[in-house]
Amino acid sequence: MRLIMLGAPGAGKGTQAKILSEEYSIPHISTGDIFRYNIQKKTALGTTAAKYIDDGILVPDDITLKLIVDRLEQEDCKNGFILDGFPRTIHQANMLDRHMSEGNMNIDMVIFISITHETAEKRITSRMVCKNCGASYNAIHRKPKIENVCDICGSEVIKRKDDNLDIILERLKTYEKETAPLISYYEKQGKIEKIYGQTTIEETTKRVLEALKKL
Ligand code: AMP
Repeated sequence: MRLIMLGAPGAGKGTQAKILSEEYSIPHISTGDIFRYNIQKKTALGTTAAKYIDDGILVPDDITLKLIVDRLEQEDCKNGFILDGFPRTIHQANMLDRHMSEGNMNIDMVIFISITHETAEKRITSRMVCKNCGASYNAIHRKPKIENVCDICGSEVIKRKDDNLDIILERLKTYEKETAPLISYYEKQGKIEKIYGQTTIEETTKRVLEALKKL
């Protein structure tokens, strides 16, 4: 199964992708997580990516495309994958389509989780993430059991540098301009499943699993 998670920052793409990754035993590929890993490890890629991420704008396509093509060619992607945060531009979607058809593969479904910008702002300003496994928490209603310690892997839970209000507004602007056009791009391909995302994680998962039954 080859899936794309689409939606504004804070929609719950990563959270749902992790759940689906467990459910279907296919890798969850988050370009944001790969960039953050490289920033933490102080690699050349990380240093370049940080310049864009810290401003809430997109990392240039040439960098992102190379990274994703390399990742998709790894052995664990043979039986499928869940893309989270990629593609984010029409150009990236075109390149992904090209890569897929060269390998005689198809994206099976694009799950578009829909939330308002108001919800996105609220969720992101209170979001905290595990530095190691990327598990997502919320400072108000979904705190880790032990303060700042990940329930899953025991690593430190932190606030992402780009999860502050100024940068969020920039990220939402970038989303509207660059990424939202992908909704009609994939609608034309008949691949979009729109999921109402202003509800609990469990309810959203239920709706996503229901949509996946169509495959
Ligand atoms: P995310 O974790 O998906 O919210 O991504 C965090 C940041 O990483 C974004 O705001 C972008 O700066 C960068 N990023 C992630 N995915 C992409 C992508 N597909 N294309 C360009 N930049 C990306």
